[in-house]
Amino acid sequence: MNSVGRTPALTSRLPQVGTTIFSVMSALAQQHDAVNLGQGFPDFGCDARLLDAVNVAMRSGHNQYAPMAGVMALREGIAEKIATLYGRHYDPDREITVTAGATQAILTAVLAVVQPGDEVILLDPCFDSYAPNVALAGGIAVHVPLTPGSFAPDFDRIARAISPRTRLIVVNTPHNPSGTVWSAADMQRLSELLQPTEALVIGDEVYEHMVFDGMQHQSVARWPELAARSFLVSSFGKTYHVTGWKVGYVAAPAALTAEFRKVHQFNVFAVNTAMQHGLAAYLRDPQPHLELAAFYQRKRDLFARGLQGTRLRPLPCAGTYFQCADYSDVSDEEDTAFCERLTREAGVAAIPMSAFHAQPIQEGLIRFCFAKEDTTLMLALERLRVL
Ligand code: GLN
Repeated sequence: MNSVGRTPALTSRLPQVGTTIFSVMSALAQQHDAVNLGQGFPDFGCDARLLDAVNVAMRSGHNQYAPMAGVMALREGIAEKIATLYGRHYDPDREITVTAGATQAILTAVLAVVQPGDEVILLDPCFDSYAPNVALAGGIAVHVPLTPGSFAPDFDRIARAISPRTRLIVVNTPHNPSGTVWSAADMQRLSELLQPTEALVIGDEVYEHMVFDGMQHQSVARWPELAARSFLVSSFGKTYHVTGWKVGYVAAPAALTAEFRKVHQFNVFAVNTAMQHGLAAYLRDPQPHLELAAFYQRKRDLFARGLQGTRLRPLPCAGTYFQCADYSDVSDEEDTAFCERLTREAGVAAIPMSAFHAQPIQEGLIRFCFAKEDTTLMLALERLRVL
């Protein structure tokens, strides 16, 4: 007979944290056979050429550990892409690191630079991993709301939040969940604001290739003052429709990269080798990332126009593959309850906005992901029309 041992009691490192909303809503969607417009991932496949390139890499023997910082051919391709798009050269050897997705990149950057008691400015609403990352580093999250309605940065409030203890600010453009895109003037303002400070920046730019209506993505790499203090984070999962591969990267000045790699090497050591070789080969063609904005703009238009035939009110979406909507004409429930009911009763899953902020900024909003086949979007719209 097995005897039962005693597990010692724990004091949680993250007492406020449950299971991430993305896992919760995907599970609920599956349970109720709902159209899953919650968690952000495409329901269509990637380019067969990318699969072939990974296959070739595996079959030609790229199956042992990659170099800790990433396969050099991939780092070179990343450097070239950034230089072409944003006009800044990062040294692939000392300034670019391949990561197991952007989520790992952001945690690793936070752990590398935030000391206990350091302040980290987070602009709410923001991705749900940021605040727990800061907590794990022993830092103090300073939550600054974005402007209600537009979700544009409120620089007066950001300026007031900066203190001598500010170590880091996390800037996410194009912005998940709101779909807002920072303008050149916003970046200029941030640059001026941070110039006299010792604050570093994480530029979470995973949706960099999904910027619509002729606007341009304003990468931290474009702004010398920002680039000198930033970790630029991006993701192949978003760009190439392979979120499950979990491959992303960080570009940062050598001094920041050196600290980043000290943590990275004991965190994941290296990212899977064959994927990196495949991505390196595929990245030589810029067409896939250059075409992405038009591809998603059409889906945004289809979905946003469709929402106009429902009692949900779509918010403006300038970038990302997320469309937010106001449901206050349908219900006055709080957003989590509304999303659960929407999944169960209407058969469409979405993400409640409250999952993205410490304090409510604007009530009655939910986020849909439109990285879906047109038929999936049409089915969701048909179900939403009955609300
Ligand atoms: N970035 C995706 C989203 O916002 C989800 C990532 C995840 O599930 N961890 O939906």
